[in-house]
Amino acid sequence: MVELESRCPGGEQRPPILVTTSWDDGVQEDMRLAEMLAERGMTGTFYACPEPGQSRPLTKGDMRQLRLMGMEIGAHTLTHPDLTRLSRDAMRREIGESGARLEDLLGEPVPSFCYPYGAHSPVVVRCAAECGFSFARTTVAFRDGLDFHPLRAPVGVQAYAHSRPTHVRHALKEGNVVGLLKWAMICGAQLDPVALTRMLALHAEQRGHPARLGALLGDRPTWHVADAGRVAGCAVGYTVRGVCD
Ligand SMILES: [Zn+2]
Repeated sequence: MVELESRCPGGEQRPPILVTTSWDDGVQEDMRLAEMLAERGMTGTFYACPEPGQSRPLTKGDMRQLRLMGMEIGAHTLTHPDLTRLSRDAMRREIGESGARLEDLLGEPVPSFCYPYGAHSPVVVRCAAECGFSFARTTVAFRDGLDFHPLRAPVGVQAYAHSRPTHVRHALKEGNVVGLLKWAMICGAQLDPVALTRMLALHAEQRGHPARLGALLGDRPTWHVADAGRVAGCAVGYTVRGVCD
């Protein structure tokens, strides 16, 4: 994470709201996304799979260009499996080799990882640590506190509109009762990601504590670049600066 510089409009005192943005899978749309973030003075972490098996993946040149724009490249396994279903050896290969390949490509450490589908378990988290990662992203939502395990980092808002049953199902599957209550009681079970971003940011402001409002665009093809731009634009109205994970 990056230390923030305060940039409060009108000089008023506001608690810092740290906004991280994460974008999964590493496809060509990420280049436009990066431009949109840069236009808003924001950065993001782009989690790429070296063997994604999907059309139009990011090229090596794209990833280098993203780094030049100040974006972070994170690992997202080799082939995007559900890690909780793999043997220990396969899990270690998927996690460890994905990081090693990106490090070879970029010529620098790659400390951040993202669990495909958000699927993780204590064994998976331990494997990520053993493979050298110091930060890992989950899909646990509606959590804006700063007190989280760095290898089980939650998100504030996912930048596409799940249905209400999906929000509930995800929260229960992940044991995220706190997030579920926050979504229902603070956000009024709202679905629109921009409205959710605004509500969580306002809540953090009113509470008067620093907050971390992570925006996540998860596994394709469920998201749209335009939605990402809307969420980033909304978030930047509340934050001092968008940063990488
Ligand atoms: Zn993914």
